[in-house]
Amino acid sequence: MINEISNAEQFPIMEMYYTIQGEGYQQGKSAFFIRLGGCDVGCTWCDVKDSWHKDKHPLMDIFSIIAIIKKTKAENIVITGGEPLMYNLNNWCSILKEEGFNLFLETSGAYPLSGKWDWICISPKKFKAPLKEILLFANELKIIVFNKQDFKWAAEHQKMVSQNCKLFLQPEWSKKEILLNDIIEYIKNNPQWMLSLQIHKYMEIP
Ligand code: SF4
Repeated sequence: MINEISNAEQFPIMEMYYTIQGEGYQQGKSAFFIRLGGCDVGCTWCDVKDSWHKDKHPLMDIFSIIAIIKKTKAENIVITGGEPLMYNLNNWCSILKEEGFNLFLETSGAYPLSGKWDWICISPKKFKAPLKEILLFANELKIIVFNKQDFKWAAEHQKMVSQNCKLFLQPEWSKKEILLNDIIEYIKNNPQWMLSLQIHKYMEIP
């Protein structure tokens, strides 16, 4: 085990915390969030810009992270970023899965898929479009609505995911008062879509 630990892959970790998943299909479930540092997607409205530069964040291996997770009762792990698929997550997922965790991924889809997941949420961004091939693996498509043109972006990507994929529209936090009625009307006219609100932000929890 000592060799395994010393040889373990390390990735930059911006933050980790145990909380409630506040958005999308898994909303309301307890989850341990692992936020990897590093992202080159460049969303102007990004609410985690501190994550962009991977060198700002300490490297950690998955065994050290599991030791921290095990101090909680967490069963669900959300790996997010940053853009987590900038790293090959095959080994991390295998090790976490051996420990019995449910693994949820949050990605823009801009990089090839790695790792085995129980739930894949892809949130495509105009600033660096997702790879077409990864969209077929999405269990959940989450479109952040920053302006009305994003409804067209949503419809385009709806055509690229599987029929079983859950479809969510989520107002960008700073635009929610302006856009919420338009999103509600869109969903009423396109009932395969659902509304996602960032309830953790309303509750002022991480
Ligand atoms: Fe921020 Fe996510 Fe966009 Fe990267 S993909 S810039 S982390 S919102």
